[in-house]
Amino acid sequence: MSSKPRRIFVLDASAFMYGYPSVVVEGEHFTPLAVLEELKSLQARAYADAVLSSKHVEVLPPPRECLEEVSKKAEQLGSLQVLSRADLEVLALALYLKKKESAEVTVVSDDYDVQNVAAALGLRFQPLRTSGIKAVFKWIYYCPSCGKIYRQPQPSLRCEICGSFLKRRPRKRG
Ligand SMILES: [Zn+2]
Repeated sequence: MSSKPRRIFVLDASAFMYGYPSVVVEGEHFTPLAVLEELKSLQARAYADAVLSSKHVEVLPPPRECLEEVSKKAEQLGSLQVLSRADLEVLALALYLKKKESAEVTVVSDDYDVQNVAAALGLRFQPLRTSGIKAVFKWIYYCPSCGKIYRQPQPSLRCEICGSFLKRRPRKRG
């Protein structure tokens, strides 16, 4: 008996916004409910309705322990505060399917933070419109007004000295 390895994809909101072709891509496609709740445009919602009702995409909730693992990793990388609930659920669902099915799981996302955390978790990712990140990196936060550097994101997302909104850039390695 020869069985093809299962190809599993977990879709984030950008896949629905840009009409990821789940109908023609060979493999199984999943998404968490939080992604569908995040869709705002009529076009994305119509697309979601179509692929869900035709069963080309299945909705599956990620288990809590996977969500916790993903949150922990995102925090280490300095991405926790910029990831939405839906982003975290996408990653947690992918992690869960990878472990449970011992299959190769690809996260379909255009979000650099999602891609970054996915890579750090040993998950594959596939961007839709961006070129995708090349390596896992950590963020460094800095104040654009007074120049203060923060190793960790501030809970308020603002500079504690002058109150400006912080910006970030990848922290250099080595
Ligand atoms: Zn400042």
